[in-house]
Amino acid sequence: MLPLDAEAPGSTPPPQMIELAKPRALTPGEREILEFLTASPLSCDPLREQLSSASVITQCDCGCPSVGLTTDGPIVPDALVVEREPVGRDDYFAIKAVGRNREWRMVDVILHVGSGEVSELEIWAAVYGGSPETDLPPVATLRYDDS
Ligand SMILES: [Zn+2]
Repeated sequence: MLPLDAEAPGSTPPPQMIELAKPRALTPGEREILEFLTASPLSCDPLREQLSSASVITQCDCGCPSVGLTTDGPIVPDALVVEREPVGRDDYFAIKAVGRNREWRMVDVILHVGSGEVSELEIWAAVYGGSPETDLPPVATLRYDDS
């Protein structure tokens, strides 16, 4: 739950990724979404291989289900990153999709890839405002968003 009375309006601190006491395995829902995202035309074999060793190390504190990830690799080579990043960065790209949660609200799901490794699964339900709290959108509702 978001604390409704903890902060005066306008003074809400930005969301922070909080480190877990110890890494945990992906939930089945998280894994399904990551498998969908890494099946994108923007993905590549190293990224798909990273999923087998991926675990969750941080959790967003804003109430959304976004999680920080770590993996044993293999690293995505810089040349493959540059091909996938519109402004030619060699240290970051993202794979995006949109889906619907149980309330049929639009949910953005974004796999952030930093320094060649899966770094965050962002799940954002407040696309059109409203609460960032959400269940994970079923994979059947997901569509790649290459905008
Ligand atoms: Zn959040």
